[in-house]
Amino acid sequence: MMIVMKPTATPQEVESVIARVREAGARAHVINGEELTVIGAIGDREHVARLGLEASPGVDRVLPISKPYKLASAEIAHGQRTVLEIGGALVGGPHFALIAGPCTVESREQTLDTARIVRDAGATFFRGGAYKPRTSPYAFQGLGQEGLRLLAEAKALTGLPIVTEVMDARDLEAVLEVADVIQIGARNMQNYSLLTEIGRSGCPVLIKRGLSSTLEELVMASEYVLKEGNEAVMLCERGIRTFETAYRFTLDLMAIPVLKEMTHLPVIVDPSHAAGRRDLVLPMSLAAAAAGADGIIVEVHPDPDQAICDGPQQLVAADFGVYAERVRAAAALGGKVVADHPVSAEVLGA
Ligand code: PEP
Ligand code: MN
Repeated sequence: MMIVMKPTATPQEVESVIARVREAGARAHVINGEELTVIGAIGDREHVARLGLEASPGVDRVLPISKPYKLASAEIAHGQRTVLEIGGALVGGPHFALIAGPCTVESREQTLDTARIVRDAGATFFRGGAYKPRTSPYAFQGLGQEGLRLLAEAKALTGLPIVTEVMDARDLEAVLEVADVIQIGARNMQNYSLLTEIGRSGCPVLIKRGLSSTLEELVMASEYVLKEGNEAVMLCERGIRTFETAYRFTLDLMAIPVLKEMTHLPVIVDPSHAAGRRDLVLPMSLAAAAAGADGIIVEVHPDPDQAICDGPQQLVAADFGVYAERVRAAAALGGKVVADHPVSAEVLGA
């Protein structure tokens, strides 16, 4: 159930509704909007209905949340978009995130060079995998702990917040030392125990859509994180499997407006993994940004021909400045701005 407070409700009235919701054995999730406060009561609908909260001071209306995803639903946010502040960067609402970096952390030079180049070109986050989900168990699985150490160095050098993947809850503690955003890969979107652990950690999370998952399944995955009290969730469209074989996956750009209709969460697009081919990355990035995506996560490598993983789809780092400029213009068409990262190179002496 959703309890919509009057714009004139006092903090005491809000507190008293929260206390009553909790007494009924439900969880109270408070959303402080610009104009009014909404309290999501997550639990037994009958118990909450029996409280008769409509008559409580400060309460405007009590409405059922019709969707199976409650905390992620656009309904509960009452038309407000979630804006996240992560390591000084804003994502969501009018703020566009440009998340760039290599598929995989391979070496100190490759990682730091890429981080410097994408930072100078205006990226707002640095991505890189230390733990890699690979189709073949015989393929390189990532540098692990050493990769995390290099990501920490990249962060110290550039000031960019770090986005990196966790595949196994046993690595979570170590990853949390360096990650500003934890990436849940497409292959783990329905790993519900991992989602719950990440929810409990409180660390911001980017959840990638499963290869064959519906949008509702993606949003339900986000609900596992939100349910633990972690509100910093971004959804990511990264291409789905269809009958088409001309490219790696089919990038579902309609997911952008539809996810925004379904939820209040920022929607990020990954053109790299969808395309599998470098030449498709710019046009798909422009289309996604113009369609209102809240950000792009893109793979960049100083020398993609030598990349251990995903070489054919990684942008050449030397070309990233031109790419970023074009994406910024498309994001403006989509009604967004790419904020300059507040940490300047001079301040960090980089
Ligand atoms: C990645 O971002 O490096 C990755 C493996 O993506 P996905 O989980 O979408 O395949
Ligand atoms: Mn990759």
